[in-house]
Amino acid sequence: MEADDSDDTGTSKDKRYLYDVGANALSQWIENEEFPPYRFRQIWQWLWRGVNSFDQMTDLPKDLRDRLAEDFVLDHVLLEKKLSSHLDETAKYLWKLHDGETIESVFMSYKAGTSVCVSSQVGCQMGCDFCASSKAGFARDLTTGELLAQVAFIGKDQARRIDHIVVMGIGEPMQNYDHVVGFLRACNDPAIFNISMRKMTVSTCGIIPQIHKFAGEDMPVTLAISLHATTNRLRSSLMPINRLYPLEDLMDACRDYIDKTGRRISFEYALFSGVNDSPDDARRLVKLLDGMLCHVNIIPGNDVPDMPYKGSPKDRVENFRQIVQTGGIPVTVRRELGADIMAACGQLRRSNT
Ligand code: SAH
Repeated sequence: MEADDSDDTGTSKDKRYLYDVGANALSQWIENEEFPPYRFRQIWQWLWRGVNSFDQMTDLPKDLRDRLAEDFVLDHVLLEKKLSSHLDETAKYLWKLHDGETIESVFMSYKAGTSVCVSSQVGCQMGCDFCASSKAGFARDLTTGELLAQVAFIGKDQARRIDHIVVMGIGEPMQNYDHVVGFLRACNDPAIFNISMRKMTVSTCGIIPQIHKFAGEDMPVTLAISLHATTNRLRSSLMPINRLYPLEDLMDACRDYIDKTGRRISFEYALFSGVNDSPDDARRLVKLLDGMLCHVNIIPGNDVPDMPYKGSPKDRVENFRQIVQTGGIPVTVRRELGADIMAACGQLRRSNT
């Protein structure tokens, strides 16, 4: 996101979103404006504590705050609505972006710590048949700053340190590759959120060229692949991306990724009643993943309004899990959080309207 210096008349400036301005550019600005270099650290710390106005930067002199406000903005991402679950500590945040678009993110708390699930795009182009995120269309990629703001503002609102990042909200992160990778590196930066890369997960529906590219990043984050089916016929009908990147090619890319990185892949498999949850499906899954350094994460399918799919009943989920486990594949069933506020996998959408 590059700001223009002036409009046609030359009288006004486009202001840059401060969360999108890197450390180097900000310290350069401070030098150019002839403020003392230590001001950089103060501003930088305020940002990651989640301020959204310059007046909240209380230890800065007024002239510096005024100059910042002339060149930068902090209000590109504003809280529109927050829903807190009555069942657990989950909260869903709806953000309004400067161009009127909306996105959602989710805060979760587990025994292992806190977690934020961020959106990577405004809407999604992947068109998965069972997912609400596809339904309201696609507008644009999020910037790195818009990704970071979701974490900063949720950390501030919850008054908690954020321990885990999952890029599993609205959008296909591998389509917004550079911003997502920049975001993960920034989350890891000790001067930003200082979150271990091992506590970050990126989920993709299976965009093969980007999986290869990601393998070369040397980032020990967890790669999750949304699998959801074990035959091309079914997977193509549920997930259109499979027509472009069919299962056997996807599995080859995953094996390459594992060889190159030595890292375990997490395969997500959402169970929908009568669609992909039979014992045969489970056995085919075991065969598909046989010998791979991987883990299966079963997601009990979540209901999405106006969609034909229903989550599998508990006994079928358990039966499926047992077959996969007996087949020697490490498997867990994802816990349902935020079920009363439509905050579960596949329930986030671009707009509430
Ligand atoms: N586009 C990426 C990131 C989204 S992650 C991806 O496809 O992986 C969200 C996860 O929730 C994906 O695994 C997605 O397939 C899954 N999901 C979508 N709709 C769902 C539903 N109704 N029930 C359960 N999981 C769902």
